[in-house]
Amino acid sequence: MIRYENVEVAFDDFVAIPHLDLDVAEGEFFTLLGPSGCGKTTALRTLAGFVEPSAGEIYVDGKAVTRLRSDQRRVGMVFQNYALFPSMDVWENIAFGLKVRKENKAERERLVRDIARRVDLSDNQLGKNLAELSGGQQQRVAIARALVLQPKILLLDEPLSNLDAKLRHQLRGQLKELQHEFGITTLYVTHDQDEALTMSDRIAVFNKGRVEQVGTPQEIYDASATEFVCTFIGEASRLTPELLAALGPEAGLDPVRSSYLRLEKVSLLADGATPPPGCCAVDGVVAAASYHGLHTVFTVESHGSQVQVLFKEDGQVRPAVGERVTLTLDPAHVLQYGDDGVRV
Ligand code: ATP
Repeated sequence: MIRYENVEVAFDDFVAIPHLDLDVAEGEFFTLLGPSGCGKTTALRTLAGFVEPSAGEIYVDGKAVTRLRSDQRRVGMVFQNYALFPSMDVWENIAFGLKVRKENKAERERLVRDIARRVDLSDNQLGKNLAELSGGQQQRVAIARALVLQPKILLLDEPLSNLDAKLRHQLRGQLKELQHEFGITTLYVTHDQDEALTMSDRIAVFNKGRVEQVGTPQEIYDASATEFVCTFIGEASRLTPELLAALGPEAGLDPVRSSYLRLEKVSLLADGATPPPGCCAVDGVVAAASYHGLHTVFTVESHGSQVQVLFKEDGQVRPAVGERVTLTLDPAHVLQYGDDGVRV
């Protein structure tokens, strides 16, 4: 449904995106994830037609759109600040694009009512001023305004970042539901890795204008292709060469490689127990504990590494800070990277 082919975007001398190839399938919720300034928004704006690529081609539904005007691309966009018109009421905001497109009044009425119903905006809310709506409701208006034009794809640029933490969480689910219901191919931009992991079918992780990995949330998390992806996504403890050496040669790990371990891939071994088959054991001391309700995260100092360990309350004896413990892990879960940052 969306294809970027050899796309390069330059602003004068500055190359924001040196080379982008990307394919998004119909109906996918696809996220561009990366730190601030890595080119996510530029990639989105290029697809929307607000930025012209210096090279390459973009296709929507098999058709090259690179030289089409923004309004000819059948692309709906929702901005971070929603960019709604404060002087218009909700109805007028949603109907705006239809008016520009010169739809007749009866058709406008029908389409606005239909979309409002589908995004759960009541008749009462349609008559309100924007200022009378909550952040979440304004977001619905922004989405309705985009969807009423029946775009082939929906572009969302950090639509949750202006909201408080609780609402942001709540709206993640609602937004995802809405996308699923409409079945509309969605390109979503965020710097929030948690948001990306929970909402996306697939993710492209951006770094300095380049895509480092494309994959499902699980692939990105469990098999991070580069050191950048590994450290940007989720919690990963860096393992020292001393710790890797202490695991023993049977672990088959190269101690000089940059090595990481996710916190749920290591556990505490009960006193006197033997590690599960295929797993190694290593000693350490509990340096800190942080309680999260459902679980506790222990930081265990082990051979110069600060290893984060996920501890679930399942009857196991909880160690105290300062206590000696034994860690156990499957060496296959250690992520190792070469000097070029690529997984080995
Ligand atoms: P953020 O999350 O902060 O918006 P981003 O990943 O979306 O970051 P972009 O906004 O795409 O990043 O910016 C990528 C790079 O291109 C940045 O270095 C930015 O300064 C630069 N840039 C973006 N738009 C322009 C422009 N119109 N003119 C010049 N440079 C630009």
